Amino acid sequence: MNILVTGGVGYIGSHTCISLLESGHSVIIADNLYNSKRETVEKIKYLTNDNVDFYEIDVTDTQAVDDIFKNNIIDGVIHFAGFKAVGESVKLPLNYYYNNVVSTMVLADACLKYNVNRFVFSSSATVYGNNTVPFSETMDPLPTTNPYGETKSMSERILTDIARANPAFSVSLLRYFNPVGAHESGLIGESPNGIPNNLMPYVTQVAKRKLEKLRIFGNDYPTVDGTGVRDYIHIMDLAEGHVVALNNLTEGVHIYNLGTGKGTSVLELVKAFEVANDITIPYEIVDRRPGDIASCYADVSKAKQELGWIAKRDLIAMCKDAWRFEIKINKN
Ligand code: NAD
Ligand code: UDP
Repeated sequence: MNILVTGGVGYIGSHTCISLLESGHSVIIADNLYNSKRETVEKIKYLTNDNVDFYEIDVTDTQAVDDIFKNNIIDGVIHFAGFKAVGESVKLPLNYYYNNVVSTMVLADACLKYNVNRFVFSSSATVYGNNTVPFSETMDPLPTTNPYGETKSMSERILTDIARANPAFSVSLLRYFNPVGAHESGLIGESPNGIPNNLMPYVTQVAKRKLEKLRIFGNDYPTVDGTGVRDYIHIMDLAEGHVVALNNLTEGVHIYNLGTGKGTSVLELVKAFEVANDITIPYEIVDRRPGDIASCYADVSKAKQELGWIAKRDLIAMCKDAWRFEIKINKN
């Protein structure tokens, strides 16, 4: 199939483009490079020995999106493009609602106009709010604590309503847990600007001695050791999950958790990183981070039963691959 991948130069999109190309699909990327670098497109081509069509456009731009649909045969869309920083979304809610929700509407509109009936959407475990773990697709989404989360819930709702009104339209809402790590080559991975917000990129920068020590946000949660528990999933497992979801897409709306089903505490992740890479990670315990929940991990039985997909790579592989990318790419 010819797949339009919005945000395909970003962290999850670039790894998914590799999996798509390796599975025999063709890829057209639409990305405005707001949070990514053009050289990643060349790396995708290099790693797959394949070609990729790249459009540097904003996917909220109706005309630019229409031009892509007019000039290409498109069989499906995977919509990654969006802003994703939770804290920033609290400060700049309008930017988040506009970019994340309008882009979904513009793309869905083009799909209906050009009869493109496959749509895969990047959603997030954040839509479960403070439900009880493990989070299951049968649970009702709860209000999230920030505008970013609301953009995901709204986009899910919009796509669901469109699918109800257009029976041929097939939608897969993929709720990601915590993607970490990098492609095994170490050539592409996650490169946040400035000081990382997320745990794994922070840990790799402490390991590199770019940052002095990790600050662990709270050790008084009701978890195994008091630190926050998350479901970390290797980025290549997540990428492969997209290909499987796309290949199995049937009419209607399908929701899948993409996680490992296993909760890991912050201290457990730090320990795994130290063992995997033989590096000490200095840390201190500080106050809880506002808005954090104690535990977040997936019930992964639906994706296993319906798609035959499970995450294969373990925490040690995640830590090794994250570190390989850090030392290979960020040389200083
Ligand atoms: P990313 O920032 O690395 O990639 C997003 C890409 O979209 C970037 O290349 C950016 O330049 C592009 N982009 C943003 N707005 C655009 C626009 N209007 N037009 C064109 N391109 C635009 O982020 P990521 O981690 O790869 O996340 C991809 C998607 O997955 C996002 O929708 C994000 O909300 C969602 N998600 C991410 C996580 C995570 O932990 N990384 C978890 C759950 C959901
Ligand atoms: N965390 C931490 N220090 C950091 C970054 C994160 O202790 O510098 C903790 C955070 O409180 C949470 C876990 O690590 O329990 C995962 O946080 P991340 O921001 O990576 O993901 P999210 O909170 O979005 O699940």
